Amino acid sequence: MNAFTLSRGPSKEDKKYFTSGDPDTLFSDLQEIGHGAFGAVYCALDERPKSATRGQNVAIKKMSYSGKSEKFTDIVHEIKLLERLKHKNIVRLEECFLKDKDHMVWIVMEYCLGSASDLVDVQPGRLLESEVAQIIRDVLHGLSYLHSNEIIHRDIKAGNILLSENGLAKVADFGSASNKSSANSFVGSPYWMAPEVILAMESGRYTGAVDLWSLGITCIEIADRKPPMFTQNAMAALYQIAQSDAPTLDQNADWSHTFHSFLSCLLKKNPEERFTATEALQHSWFKDNRENPQELVELIDRTKRLVREQDEKQITMQYKKMLRIYKGGD
Ligand code: ATP
Ligand code: MG
Ligand code: MG
Repeated sequence: MNAFTLSRGPSKEDKKYFTSGDPDTLFSDLQEIGHGAFGAVYCALDERPKSATRGQNVAIKKMSYSGKSEKFTDIVHEIKLLERLKHKNIVRLEECFLKDKDHMVWIVMEYCLGSASDLVDVQPGRLLESEVAQIIRDVLHGLSYLHSNEIIHRDIKAGNILLSENGLAKVADFGSASNKSSANSFVGSPYWMAPEVILAMESGRYTGAVDLWSLGITCIEIADRKPPMFTQNAMAALYQIAQSDAPTLDQNADWSHTFHSFLSCLLKKNPEERFTATEALQHSWFKDNRENPQELVELIDRTKRLVREQDEKQITMQYKKMLRIYKGGD
């Protein structure tokens, strides 16, 4: 056995998390919609005979566990966590399959249209403040639920916030989550990491407050289109997060005083002074921006239109290029 052979496969205990049968026969029209550290995510048509979502789209995260033996343990950890969670602002796990022969796990989830990061990438300018507030409020509801269940997400960022067709934002990607109310390992994505995670090796444990810091950074990422220090390398950014004052929104943009004030309650370097998710939901920023899922539905529609236009433009450009090549003109 070498380092690339599986040394920890599914035990009998693990197998209870998986439905038997070959998922290749139950889902069709797989199309890649996302990519992450573990592999690709696909949109597929649900053809399971007894499924409530038969004939509708589902998302399938295919994860390979060949290679390091801890990988399978990590995948089962993610599944165990997701399985417990039932909330409108947490992406719903449907079912899991094991393709033992290929060393693959398929995690079938509710289908979302894309992430908040995709929205920001596609939109040519800034989102409206009220749109940012709709997304952040939903994530706070999700975080409040997670923290009351003693789960720390540890990787909150726009790429892990998904949007559903009916205008809800949902927390996704539980690959880094901890199922204890306090933790001490160095886990997360550098630019979004709370100072106490970076310093945990020195000062001990941290709590769910780390997710509120990362959400503060995510506010900046969604509103100003990039998290702070994104142009620096990850090591330099980690050093700065630990050493410098908390970042703020772009002072030259038109963000309201209330938004600045809300953000300063999340981006407190001392986790004990930071708002909890429940406290954050009481902030007057959410009174100024009333709950309205329709606003996100419209933003999603606008984004879809832009993607279609960009696709059409690209097809036209490719078509023109092809014509030039065939006709030999310029
Ligand atoms: P990371 O590198 O962030 O750890 P990961 O391998 O853990 O990634 P996810 O973050 O779960 O994977 O998914 C990667 C991407 O796939 C997401 O950013 C999103 O674009 C897409 N995606 C994931 N789940 C869904 C879903 N349920 N519906 C639609 N798209 C999804
Ligand atoms: Mg992710
Ligand atoms: Mg992940």
